[in-house]
Amino acid sequence: MNPEMKREDDVTILVVDDHPMNLRVLLDSLQEEGFRILIARNGEGALRQATLALPDIILLDVMMPPGIDGFETCRRLKQQDATKDIPVIFMTALSDTINKVTGFEVGGVDYVTKPFDRAELLARVKAHLALQRYQRELAITNQKLRQMNEALLESQKQLEIAARTDPLTHLSNRRDMIEKIEMEKVRIKRHHKPFTLILCDIDNFKMFNDTFGHDCGDFILVSIANMMRAMIREQDQLARWGGEEFLFLLPETNLKSGAIVAEKIRKAIADYHFEYKTHVLSVTMTFGVSICQTHTIDIDDCIKQADRALYNGKHAGKNLVFQTKQAAVD
Ligand SMILES: [Mg+2]
Repeated sequence: MNPEMKREDDVTILVVDDHPMNLRVLLDSLQEEGFRILIARNGEGALRQATLALPDIILLDVMMPPGIDGFETCRRLKQQDATKDIPVIFMTALSDTINKVTGFEVGGVDYVTKPFDRAELLARVKAHLALQRYQRELAITNQKLRQMNEALLESQKQLEIAARTDPLTHLSNRRDMIEKIEMEKVRIKRHHKPFTLILCDIDNFKMFNDTFGHDCGDFILVSIANMMRAMIREQDQLARWGGEEFLFLLPETNLKSGAIVAEKIRKAIADYHFEYKTHVLSVTMTFGVSICQTHTIDIDDCIKQADRALYNGKHAGKNLVFQTKQAAVD
């Protein structure tokens, strides 16, 4: 990372000292380097100037009688959002350890001791200005990374939804439905209540495509999907299983109740007049209902049973609900 360097005449330094001689020395040294300098002679003045001008760095004397000292000034700067990130370098003639530690504790980043060594003072100021620039750059980079990460998570979520959804009807697709059935199978182990599958297929679907075009076929698929979705309970699942095939999963439902649901849907569709462009179309569907009663059952078998019932319904004349023969427990 190479943050764009601020030119030195773009840098503002607030110098705070109660002693005119010290200020003179500091001004000479810093102005020579091209820094813009602001001056305060006490803690209160420093707080005002810092809040108003938001300097890039503050050089802060510790002892400034009779007002608040440098440590207290720093503490207050760190309490304000606007000024809390401005680096503070303490200037102190006190060389005992306790005071230096206090300087760091109240939020100072460094200290220089008086009398000043010009080279050292400039080196420390420049080092902290560079550090501050890197931190700002890092904060911006982190923010960008966070945004990119959020966008990535969102697109992953969308992909995950797309991977489970039939794009035409917005119902679950086959893969999603298989997972839901597997989950329901696990639940049976706990509550011992069976679930029912209903496999259904639009009768003579090819005729609609051949006679009115594929847009008509899509219109019928979407209309039927919407009708059926509106007729099931919240806990029920519906998927587009294949071309014109749909599969229902009805949790905690026995074969008889499943067949009643299928019959209700069959009738609703058969009674409905589908209006496509200038045509009024009648659509019927055939339904095969099967039941899964134990967690040991093979899902494929259960689906095959519904498929067989559906096949029998087709052979018996279509527009019918057929259920699997294996209806011992009901
Ligand atoms: Mg002083």
